[in-house]
Amino acid sequence: MTALTQNIRLRIAPSPTGDPHVGLAYVTLFNYVFCKQNNGKLVLRIEDTDRERSKPSSEANIMSSLKWLGLNWDEGPDVGGPYGPYRQSERQAIYQQHVQQLLDAGKAYRCFCSSARLDTVRTEQRAKGLTTGYDRHCRELPAASAPASAPFVVRMKVPLEGRTDFVDTLRGVISIDNHQVDDQVLLKADGFPTYHLANVVDDHLMEISHVIRAEEWISSTPKHVLLYAAFGWKAPVFLHMPLLRNPDKSKISKRKNPVSLTYYQRKGILPAAMLNFLALMGWSYSETQEIFTVAEMQEKFILEKIHLGSPIFDLQKLLWLNQHYLQLVGEDEFVTTLRQQVFSDSYLRKLYPLLRTRMDCWESFVEKADFFFTGALQYQGLAICPTSMPQADFSKGMESLLLVLDEVYEWNSATLEAVLNQHRESLQWKPKDYFMPLRLIVTGRKDSPPLTETLEVLGREMVRFRIRDYLKNF
Ligand code: GLU
Repeated sequence: MTALTQNIRLRIAPSPTGDPHVGLAYVTLFNYVFCKQNNGKLVLRIEDTDRERSKPSSEANIMSSLKWLGLNWDEGPDVGGPYGPYRQSERQAIYQQHVQQLLDAGKAYRCFCSSARLDTVRTEQRAKGLTTGYDRHCRELPAASAPASAPFVVRMKVPLEGRTDFVDTLRGVISIDNHQVDDQVLLKADGFPTYHLANVVDDHLMEISHVIRAEEWISSTPKHVLLYAAFGWKAPVFLHMPLLRNPDKSKISKRKNPVSLTYYQRKGILPAAMLNFLALMGWSYSETQEIFTVAEMQEKFILEKIHLGSPIFDLQKLLWLNQHYLQLVGEDEFVTTLRQQVFSDSYLRKLYPLLRTRMDCWESFVEKADFFFTGALQYQGLAICPTSMPQADFSKGMESLLLVLDEVYEWNSATLEAVLNQHRESLQWKPKDYFMPLRLIVTGRKDSPPLTETLEVLGREMVRFRIRDYLKNF
C-alpha cells in the first residue's frame, strides 16, 4: 500500500477503570499496524475523567499488557511527548478554557437543573412514551436570572434543526437528525469534562488524523462532529471496528468469557498468537493463510478492507494458533519462559505460606499445588452441590457470586473474606453449604490451603473462570 502524504497520527484512549480488556488490544493492533504502515505516530492517552472509577493500578496494567503484546506507543504518560500531559486528569485547565470558548461563542450554556428535576423530566417523558433527554430548560436562560452561586454543568447547544453527517470509513455516510441529539453535558458540576468534550479537544490538540475505535462509540460520533463544528475545527477520519462477540453472538463480556489480557498472559498465550488471533477478527491475510505475523500484516493490510462481520472470540481458535506458535519456541525460550512465567520466584513465594505445612517431601509439591498451575479442573466424583439444596438454587447462588467477585476492587484475602461472608448471609446459606462447595469449585479438592488466601493467589480471573466452568454443566 502506498503511504499517505498526510501526517498520520493515531491514538488509543483507554479509561483506566478495570482490567486491560482484549477489545483494547484488538483496537490497538489495528491502530498500530496502520500507523507503522504510514510512518505515523501512535499516542496513548489515558482518559481518566471518571474520578470515582479510574485507578492508577488499572492504568499500570493496561500499559504492561500492551507492552507484553509488543504494541508500543510513541507518545504517552510514561514516555511524554510534545502535546502536554497525556493523562486527561492533568489537562483540566485546557478543558475549562475550551468550555469558556464555547460559552462565549453561544455554542454552550450553563445548566442549573438539579438531579431531582432531571429525574422528574425523565419520568414524565417515559410516561408519555417519549425518548428521554434534557428538555433544554436552561438553554435560553437570561444571564440575569441565573442563580449566583448554584452548582451547574455546561451543556452543548445542539442545533435544533438540520442533520449531522459523518463518514465512517467502513460504513459510508451516517446521518442523524439534530433533534435526536441531546444537549450533551460537556463539563460536569465538579469541573471535570465529560468523555465527549475531553476526547474531542484532545484529538484536535494532539493532531489526531484517524480515530480508529470500537463500534460502541459510533453513537457518540455525531456529538463529536457537532463539537468539532462548534469549535470550527476539522474532524479526523472515523473508523469504528466491529465488536468482538461471544460464541453465542452476544457482545463479548466477562460474564461469559475471560476478557482480561492478564488472564491470557498468565494462561500462557503467546503474544504472537494473540495478535494473529485478534488480526483475524477484523481482517484476512489471504484466502488460504491464517497464520501470519504483525510484520507480514503490515505489508498487506488495507484499512478499508476491515470486515464488518461479527467477529467471534473463539477460544478454541486461539488455542489452535497458540499451539502453532508454541511449537516454534526454542529450547532456551522454553526453559526461560517456564521459569519466569510459570515457576517464577514471586509466584513460588506466594505459595510458600500456603503449602509449606502441607508437604511431607518435595515430591508432594506437584500433587498439592496442581490447581495453582492449571486452568479448568475435573470435578468427577466430587459432591459439590450441598445435599440440602436443589442444584438450580445452588447454581443461581454461584452465578450471583460471579457478579459479586467482579466488583471486588482490592483483590486480597481480607477483602474477600468480608465479601464472601456478606454474600453468604445475603443468600442465607449455612457456612458449610457455601464455603466447602466453593473450595471444591476453585481448587478441586477438600484439603486445600485456607480459602481466601488461595483465592487471592489464584486471582480474580481464574476464580471466576472456574466458577463459570463448573456452572456450564448445569
Ligand atoms: N475512553 C474511551 C474508552 O474507554 C475512548 C473511546 C474512544 O476511542 O474515543 O474506550
